[in-house]
Amino acid sequence: MINSLNSTTMTLKGDKTPFLTYNVLNDIPFIRHAFSTRLGGVSKGVCESMNLAFGRGDDRETVLENYKLICSSAGFEYESLCGSVQIHEAKVQRVTKSDRGHGILKEREWQSADALITNEKDVTLVTYYADCTPLFFVDTNTHAIGLAHGGWRGTVERIAVNTVKAMEREFGTKPEDLICCIGPVIGKCCYEIDEDCANHFKAITEIDYKEILTPKDNGKYMADLALTNKLLLINAGVKEENIAVSDLCTKCNCDLLWSHRATGGSRGTMAAFMKILY
Ligand SMILES: [Zn+2]
Repeated sequence: MINSLNSTTMTLKGDKTPFLTYNVLNDIPFIRHAFSTRLGGVSKGVCESMNLAFGRGDDRETVLENYKLICSSAGFEYESLCGSVQIHEAKVQRVTKSDRGHGILKEREWQSADALITNEKDVTLVTYYADCTPLFFVDTNTHAIGLAHGGWRGTVERIAVNTVKAMEREFGTKPEDLICCIGPVIGKCCYEIDEDCANHFKAITEIDYKEILTPKDNGKYMADLALTNKLLLINAGVKEENIAVSDLCTKCNCDLLWSHRATGGSRGTMAAFMKILY
């Protein structure tokens, strides 16, 4: 068990089943949010102990028990969970209370939804991570929310921008009213990519790639997923001072967090949770 956290942006809460929260989101009274860790669940083997993904070797009942534990610890209604369908694309799905249980307690209904948005309080958004970028969106005016998953592909395909635009279209959100949080994600300290992947980052026309890519002697690059998403959000109209980036790299903190790269892919999966209280 980890008792202290070296972070100025996030706080570790929960007793037997710990979870992370963003300090800036803790100050917003009309939402509840959490980011799970790799601790405090009942999984065994490579997924020990908190794994929230089906299909990584855990049996279904074990994963459901983990959901019950994190929901109990962080204050979410188990029946209200609505899971995304992440295929590394950039599609945004609006959900309502009719989507309660989606992908967790009942069958999936969509082929692709790397981001979820809602303005209803009876549904809890759930998205999944293990090095990829979590993106939290809170509209402080209309009380709408969103969660997005940005792997490198979703990031360069502008899922951050797509989520802002979807909230504008569906809820009348103004980008300047959004509070956004990014991470925990694999940091530029640990995220090495090859030339092919780097070319996708270079193709983001609205960003100077020298800000997000650091070339290495071996022909590869260190990429900054968090900063890429932050710059895309600023470009979409979100105020820089309203964007918080986690100071926790998943790979550097792999005793607390699942990291695909740190484990060579033998791992469980974390989840972000967020719901509207009023
Ligand atoms: Zn790192």
